[in-house]
Amino acid sequence: MKEIVLAKYGEMVLKGLNKKSFEDMLIKNIKRRLKRLGHFQITSAQSTAYITPLDDDIDLNEVVDRVSKVFGIAALCRAYACEKDFSDICEKAIEYCGDVLSTAKTFKVASKRSDKAFPMKSPEICAELGGVLLDKFPNLSVDVKDPEVTVTVEIRDTNAYVHAENLKGAGGLPVGSSGKALLLLSGGIDSPVAGWMMAKRGVHIAAIHYVSPPYTSDRAQLKVEQLCEKLTDWCGGIAFYCVPFTEIQEAIKDNCPEEFFTIIMRRLMMEIAQRIAEKDNCLALITGESVGQVASQTMAAIGCTDAVCRIPVLRPLIGMDKTEIIEISRKIDTFEISTLPYEDCCTVFTPRHPKVKPRLEDIEKAQNSFDFGPLVEKAVEGTEIKTFNYSK
Ligand code: ATP
Ligand code: MG
Repeated sequence: MKEIVLAKYGEMVLKGLNKKSFEDMLIKNIKRRLKRLGHFQITSAQSTAYITPLDDDIDLNEVVDRVSKVFGIAALCRAYACEKDFSDICEKAIEYCGDVLSTAKTFKVASKRSDKAFPMKSPEICAELGGVLLDKFPNLSVDVKDPEVTVTVEIRDTNAYVHAENLKGAGGLPVGSSGKALLLLSGGIDSPVAGWMMAKRGVHIAAIHYVSPPYTSDRAQLKVEQLCEKLTDWCGGIAFYCVPFTEIQEAIKDNCPEEFFTIIMRRLMMEIAQRIAEKDNCLALITGESVGQVASQTMAAIGCTDAVCRIPVLRPLIGMDKTEIIEISRKIDTFEISTLPYEDCCTVFTPRHPKVKPRLEDIEKAQNSFDFGPLVEKAVEGTEIKTFNYSK
């Protein structure tokens, strides 16, 4: 008998007829995430994944850490497997939950009995085990409404399980269940957070990054690759497209009015992203834009950028403050990498006075004065592709 990890499903339990396909995807994602840690038996029953280590030397803290980053899981805990015998359940509950129970003031016992052949019903299990624990730990009293510790007993097919832990899961939907989208990933703080937020909604992420050597350095690209790698802990495998953007930026500089540089650049970024998205079956683009953050993110500017988009552009940060975005970037551990000081291509040829309320017809007229088509083709052709997978 040993410890296992229980992972309770989140929002997908509401999915009606489609529920099974969400569950299958979640189990597949958990298996992939744990593969390099050893062998596991992973089964699904009653909206819970049962993760049983099959090797002796598996680090369960690491299992919990990894599973806590798998989207689709609302809560998780370590649990102890016992015989389906009430005295064994009591013994294991005292042994396994002893540490938390000996320091807590209030507790309750909760019970779930899916094996109806077990001779005691749930209320009886709660009352009897509650009594045993009260005798053993005189510091405790029962509080059924708001206990410090809940000792849970689950009577399942082959075993009973006890646990007193309830950790928050990553929430959301299993990655892949909502299809794939292409994230415009800069080295900044916002776009990795945007990618993480869409992955949380079940979107499988591919990433595209624009580089302008020699204006941007190799280290700037490396930084973005590091961000990709970090995101894999949550998002799974990421195809990374690196687009050579120098000639396009130089052509903008040489041929368009300075006040429109950024918007025209963003429209060309979108054009290239759409072509890559079509090739890689991505159904949408994702950006880290937030209304009003910079001149190219006013509603008028976003409108001019969107005018070239044939597929949806998802902007999960659109109504968020920078402080809220930073909070998430710290939580997902991308903040440190994002704040390394390398140039992004967006800061090359930044106009001194960008138009904050551009008119689409002016932008189109300025952009049409030069044929960017061949340069766009060339950039797509010259795009380098790498794949990132779980960092460990
Ligand atoms: P971030 O922190 O994500 O860099 P930002 O606040 O600096 O965002 P901008 O530089 O205006 O804002 O970029 C807006 C969005 O455009 C970014 O969130 C990102 O999605 C995309 N983007 C910007 N630069 C690049 C780049 N070099 N490669 C890919 N996408 C980019
Ligand atoms: Mg940026």
